[in-house]
Amino acid sequence: MFKIAVCPGDGIGPEVIRQALKIVRRVGEVFHLVFEVEECLIGGSSIDQTGKPICSETEKIVQNSDAVLLGAVGGTQWDHLDIALRPERGLLAIRKLLHVYSNLRPVRIFPSLTANSPLREEIIRNVNLVIVRELISGIYFGEPKGIENLPGGQRRGFSTMSYTTEEVERIARQAFDLARRRKKKVTSVDKANVLDVSRLWRETVNQVHQSYSDIQLEHRYIDECAMRLVKSPSEFDVVLTGNMFGDILSDEAAILAGSLGMLPSASLGESIALYEPVHGSAPDIAGEDKANPIAAILCVAMMLENSFNLTDLSLVVERAVEDTLNDGYRTADIHQVGSDLVGCDKMGDLIASKIHQ
Ligand code: NAD
Repeated sequence: MFKIAVCPGDGIGPEVIRQALKIVRRVGEVFHLVFEVEECLIGGSSIDQTGKPICSETEKIVQNSDAVLLGAVGGTQWDHLDIALRPERGLLAIRKLLHVYSNLRPVRIFPSLTANSPLREEIIRNVNLVIVRELISGIYFGEPKGIENLPGGQRRGFSTMSYTTEEVERIARQAFDLARRRKKKVTSVDKANVLDVSRLWRETVNQVHQSYSDIQLEHRYIDECAMRLVKSPSEFDVVLTGNMFGDILSDEAAILAGSLGMLPSASLGESIALYEPVHGSAPDIAGEDKANPIAAILCVAMMLENSFNLTDLSLVVERAVEDTLNDGYRTADIHQVGSDLVGCDKMGDLIASKIHQ
C-alpha cells in the first residue's frame, strides 16, 4: 500500500488535483495496487479554515505519508496579509518540514505540441531534459546577509553564496543516479571562472563523478548554458545546478514547452518527496474548467517512478498523456486550429481512459 498526502490548495489547484487523482485511482484499478489518499489543507484555503497557511493536522498527515501531491497556493484575496501569513508560506514550510533538498523539473516536448513552443520546430524537436536544482542552500540561505548603513548615508546590501562539499555531493549523486536512468549525460552549471564557491562546486562534482564512470559529465558556465538552452536545448539530458542558477534556468526551460500547464516538478530529500505542478493557482481561470491538468498528471508519473519505484507505470501514464494529445485533444492553453478543445475535467477522463495493462 502506498500512502499519498494530497494538498489541493487554491485556485486551479483543486481542479487539476482532481484529475491527477483520477489517474491514481485508474492505475490502482488496472494494476491492482492500493493507494491510500488523505487530503489536507494548505495555503489560502488553510488560512480561511485555520488562520494559518499550514496547520499541525496537515503537518501530521504529510509526515505520515510516502509522498505528497500538491496543487498550487495563492490568490489576490490573501495578498493583503502579512508576509509571514501568506499562502506561499505554507509551501516553504512543507518543503522545510520534508527537508527536500533537490528540485527536479523535467521539460519534455511532446511531438504533437512542437508548434506551441515559441522556438522553431527544428530547435525544439526531441527536447527531453531535467533540471536538478539544489533547493535549500546557496545564496538564498547563505549567511551573512542583510542591508547595512554606511558612513556618509550610503547603504550596502549583501548576500552570501555558500555550499559545503556535503551539500554538493548529495545533489550531484542524485543527478548522476537520474542520468543513469536516462541518456547518461550530466551538465553541471556554475560560474567557476569568477566565484570561489563555484570552484568548490566543480571540484566536488568531479569527485562524485569518479563513482559514475558510465555517465558523461560536462561543465558549463551559467551564462553560456542559458544561451545554449534556447539555441540547442535538445543537447541536454540532466542539468545539475545550484539554487539561484537553477531558479533562473528552470523558468527559462519552462517556456520551451509553450505552456506552464504541461510542467510537473518533484522535490526530493532523504525520504518523503513532494510533487507539484510548476504553475501557480491561476486565479484568472480558476473555477472555469479551463485549466490544463497535464502538469498535475505528470506529477503522478514522477511520483510512481521516484517514490514508489514503479517506473513502468510511470511510463504508462506518460504514454496515456501522449496518446491523448496525439488524438488531438487540447485544453485552451495548448489549443491549435483543428484540435478538439476540452475542459480540465474531460482531459482528466480522456487520459485516465488511456491507461491499460
Ligand atoms: P500562474 O502560474 O498561476 O499563472 C500564470 C499564467 O499561466 C496565467 O495566465 C494562468 O492562467 C496560466 N496557467 C497557469 N497554469 C495553468 C494551467 N494548468 N492551465 C492553463 N493555464 C495555466 O502564475 P501567477 O499568475 O504569477 O500567480 C498566481 C498565483 O499563484 C499567485 O498568488 C502566486 O503567488 C501563486 N503561485 C503559486 C505557485 C505554487 O503554488 N507553486 C507558483 C507560482 C505562483
